[in-house]
Amino acid sequence: MSLRRQWGLIVLYLLCLLASMAVLASFLNRPACQASPDCTWRAVMATAVFLSILSVMIGGLIIYQVRRPLYQLAILMRRIRAGDIQARLFPHYTDDFNELVHDFNEMRDQLISQINSLEERQRQLALVLHYMADGVLIVDGAGYVQLVNPAAMRLLGMSDSFALGRSFAEVVRHHQLIELYQRCRESGEYHSLAFELGQGRFWQGAITPFMERGTRGFLVILQDLTNVRRLETVRRDFISNLSHELRTPLASMRAVMETLQDGAVDDPELAHRFLGRAVREVDTMTQMVEELLELSRIESGQTPLRLQATAVADLIAHPLERIHAHAERNEITIEVELPPDLPLVLADPPRIEQVISNLLHNAVKFTPEKGHIRLTAALSEDQRMVVCTVQDTGVGIAPADVPRIFERFYKSDRARTRGQSGTGLGLAIARHLVEAHNGRIWVKSKEGQGSTFYFSLPIAE
Ligand code: ADP
Repeated sequence: MSLRRQWGLIVLYLLCLLASMAVLASFLNRPACQASPDCTWRAVMATAVFLSILSVMIGGLIIYQVRRPLYQLAILMRRIRAGDIQARLFPHYTDDFNELVHDFNEMRDQLISQINSLEERQRQLALVLHYMADGVLIVDGAGYVQLVNPAAMRLLGMSDSFALGRSFAEVVRHHQLIELYQRCRESGEYHSLAFELGQGRFWQGAITPFMERGTRGFLVILQDLTNVRRLETVRRDFISNLSHELRTPLASMRAVMETLQDGAVDDPELAHRFLGRAVREVDTMTQMVEELLELSRIESGQTPLRLQATAVADLIAHPLERIHAHAERNEITIEVELPPDLPLVLADPPRIEQVISNLLHNAVKFTPEKGHIRLTAALSEDQRMVVCTVQDTGVGIAPADVPRIFERFYKSDRARTRGQSGTGLGLAIARHLVEAHNGRIWVKSKEGQGSTFYFSLPIAE
């Protein structure tokens, strides 16, 4: 409300006052009224009443005009306090109050943009915490958990409603972590520790103390190292297996060379026999290197599959042809039984031929003379896969070995394989190839009675 408007009202009031005085004076000067004191009294009273009403009206108007914007401001503040941050004042007045409205709106806009950027940062932080693979907990100075992210809940096997507000020891329930936390509290320094939880699970805990606005707190990071450790073990085993596998043929080669050097080279028959052994050892090493290369190629996905709709009969033809002479030498019969209405499968033919070859080769190798091998295929129960089977009447596999035979370098007792040592890579390659086709490979076996290898392939729709 501007002073101009108030002055206008005051001037209006004064003019009304003057006018009513003038009207009263002229009324009192009339001869009829001068003769009657009653008339004079009534005229003065009427003027007084009129002026009182006028004063009340103009006064009320001025008070209303002054208070109205303040009243609106108070309502607006109440709305903002209640959370309606978008509420704003509109400049209704063409006067000084507009400046206040303008300043107020500007302050509100600045506040909104600050709140928005804070909310955005908070949202980003919450996203990071939500999706990060490491568990995060924040513990206050008194030792109570104030924040816990989903990864920490997963690792600790609890919900945030349980963890929040409880003591650190109650939440983590692991003595090594609790000791780590105590050490961090006492020293006020960062501490970390890798430890085993049992059942082959490994964790790493790292606790950092921090100071936030004068209050102490602790940031706890939990990492699940189980997979990393497992990969380390696989790599270590792989290297030790590989060196072990290479050491045997190399030692044998060395023995052959030394024997030849010591004079056997002058005996043509002996030399021929020893050279034959050397060639066999070189062949073993070559085969191993080739299979390892193949395995690494499959694992790295360097040779993508060329999938095509193929008949199972076409996939088994070449492997059967290749193994035929070998089986015959050992008087092993091979029977093939394929249902005529078997659907086509989605396969990269050379790859699946290699799987069948590896299985047939093993079946012949682990089956005593006059044994029997049966190759069949059938539609799976859900009718989405074709399951191929290679069954033999061989030595079988010990139950303890069954879960391990698809591992690289896993081999049976050599004595049972009619002296033909393998590399222990054939089944690992078969598993990788089948899984690359979105299939599955597994085995059922009874020691002394034989083994049945199964692998599934998706049907071509
Ligand atoms: P290898 O070169 O030793 O045959 P594989 O990976 O093909 O390597 O097989 C791993 C091991 O699985 C074999 O050493 C053997 O113990 C077992 N195995 C595979 N096939 C058969 C089978 N048909 N009968 C019995 N044992 C088998």
